[in-house]
Amino acid sequence: MKFQAQRQHVVELCLELSRRGYFAGTGGNIMLRLDAAHVAVTPSALDYHAMGAADVCVLRLQDLATVDGERAPSVESGLHAQLLRARPDMGCSIHTHQPVASACALLGRELAVPPALRASLGDAVRIAGYAPSGSGLLAARLARTLRPGGNAYLMRNHGILCCGRDSAAAMQAVDDLETLARGLLAARIAARAAAEPGAAPALQRVSELLTQPPHP
Ligand SMILES: [Zn+2]
Repeated sequence: MKFQAQRQHVVELCLELSRRGYFAGTGGNIMLRLDAAHVAVTPSALDYHAMGAADVCVLRLQDLATVDGERAPSVESGLHAQLLRARPDMGCSIHTHQPVASACALLGRELAVPPALRASLGDAVRIAGYAPSGSGLLAARLARTLRPGGNAYLMRNHGILCCGRDSAAAMQAVDDLETLARGLLAARIAARAAAEPGAAPALQRVSELLTQPPHP
């Protein structure tokens, strides 16, 4: 099998993202750069707990032609490829429907990044306009949103896309984006509770749920 160790690493990343609550069911996918011309990507619609290295697809980055693997590649391969083609300094791209940052993607605004998180997330978390999952239009909208200084993106009414120079950095960006989103939503809830004292007890309960750690 070509690139067996890297394909197994993709499986292990999926299980870790699932454990942290960022991947649920078959929602979420990863692209890992293998060399200058090739990438590994999660297969389409396969449970992470049933996935083995041979199920991970090896594609040519330039045209997404399958080089190895029997399975159909993730429908979001085009999305990841736009990012990895535009950012040759990045080695790994992760798309999730992680709960809190995806909630921020419903608000339709980019997120400011505090200095402490800029090494991981970049200068701002920009937002790509809505398009259906797996569509060329979504990949095109993401391509227009990409900036060299941005490692994390919201996709309106859908989820997020993060990248890093390697898989550990991409995982850190996923974690940091969820932390940032949690803080921003908690601040919005607190402001609303201050403005509407009658709603404060209910908002307090929402805030407590929100500020629980994302994973044990
Ligand atoms: Zn998605």
